[in-house]
Amino acid sequence: IDVGRAEGAVSVDFLRDPERYRRLGAQIPRGVLLTGAPGTGKTLLAKAVAGEAQVPFFSISASEFIEMIVGVGASRVRDLFDQAKKAAPSIVFIDELDAIGRTRGGTATFSGHDEREQTLNQILTEMDGFTGNEGVVVLAATNRPEILDPALLRAGRFDRHIVVNAPDQPGRRQILAVHTRGVPLADDVSLEALAAGTPGMVGADLKNLVNEAALLAARRNHTRVGADDFSDALERIVLGTARRLLLDPDEKERTAYHEAGHALLGLLTPGADPVRKVSIIPRGESLGATLQTPESDRHGYTASYLRGRITGALGGRAAEELVYGDVTTGAESDLELVTALARHMVGRWGMSEAIGPVSVIPAEGREQPFDVTGPSTRTRELGDTEVRRIIEACYEEALGTLREHRDQLDRLATALLAAETLDEDQAADAAGVPRRRAEGAGGLQPAPAAEPVSPSG
Ligand code: ADP
Ligand code: MG
Ligand code: ZN
Repeated sequence: IDVGRAEGAVSVDFLRDPERYRRLGAQIPRGVLLTGAPGTGKTLLAKAVAGEAQVPFFSISASEFIEMIVGVGASRVRDLFDQAKKAAPSIVFIDELDAIGRTRGGTATFSGHDEREQTLNQILTEMDGFTGNEGVVVLAATNRPEILDPALLRAGRFDRHIVVNAPDQPGRRQILAVHTRGVPLADDVSLEALAAGTPGMVGADLKNLVNEAALLAARRNHTRVGADDFSDALERIVLGTARRLLLDPDEKERTAYHEAGHALLGLLTPGADPVRKVSIIPRGESLGATLQTPESDRHGYTASYLRGRITGALGGRAAEELVYGDVTTGAESDLELVTALARHMVGRWGMSEAIGPVSVIPAEGREQPFDVTGPSTRTRELGDTEVRRIIEACYEEALGTLREHRDQLDRLATALLAAETLDEDQAADAAGVPRRRAEGAGGLQPAPAAEPVSPSG
């Protein structure tokens, strides 16, 4: 198996035929670290490697060490490596390495601290003890490489890193194919479309989606799992389960206008993510939801796309103001989203003229900005003004568009009140907006933090 496709690819071929490598004087890697978000399949991959290499596989999850009685961690490590050496060529797999491998010292004062340190030291000792000729390869996995003790990452230890990324659209399609193998699917189910509508989801999420859809289908006495089961399962996973809550008629109407505001702007804005579903069924904290997901994975955003998204997220509040002349507290999460997007545009992506192409907010996980002193107070104040300017301009635009399309807003809200949930076609029909294909994303800006879908409350 080749783990990792491009750079840093490691083949476990050397375990099957170590001589071939040794003849050429190649150093066989000792430690390979798999990193990536939870659920991307690191544990699965390690097991697949073991199967493919056809060598003995010794595995332990580091979190198990922590639960062990004091004093056994280090000796357990010693045993594990002794066994592996006897059985060589072989693989030792340490899952969730961060549980013991986090940076030593610091502020940790909990009782397991010494224990953890001893266990970690034993791992380091074992790895240093290899000459590289034993044919023991140590594989480890972690969701949080950034907290690992630097000693673990030094040359001769875990010096090969393989990043297991969230799958792209074709990858998601393949993963869905794997997990629907034993599931009878109705003819209207398209794995292609499902893969397109689930950007940001990792293997574990997709497996969960298939399972939820199958559960729903069973509850509904379907003989096969249909597209509606999948779409409801997705909605449930993303938005939470519907809540039994009786809204009074006024509140319901206001919610319908709020959601219709989001949805209509989504339908009318060129290049906006397609509106998949609009609903005034209360879920979790919110009274309604508008679900928009991209046509395909976006890897960058243009300024105009982001402005459109801010405008759409303000559509709920704008509709309320337009129809009722005041607003409710219902737009809180909309405002959070809008503020975060505008801050990123100004502070990170150089999308404000006044600030220019200057990074004011450090990128996530990079605590220290390049400029150690950080932005000046003046720049920061200017940034705040710019954020406000962007949001206010988008709000005006939302209000203007909805005012101009007031009759369509009324129709959409009325349809929503009657049906409570509308899908893409129904919403477009109700509003009398012709369906259009979304335009490509384009642009070179980094994507905001992975967000599978964007419900606005
Ligand atoms: P990690 O160790 O990265 O947190 P796991 O390997 O435990 O993730 O994945 C959890 C489950 O999700 C797997 O058992 C598998 O069912 C599913 N899964 C994750 N990634 C994939 C994938 N690439 N292909 C198929 N199934 C996957
Ligand atoms: Mg795992
Ligand atoms: Zn809203």
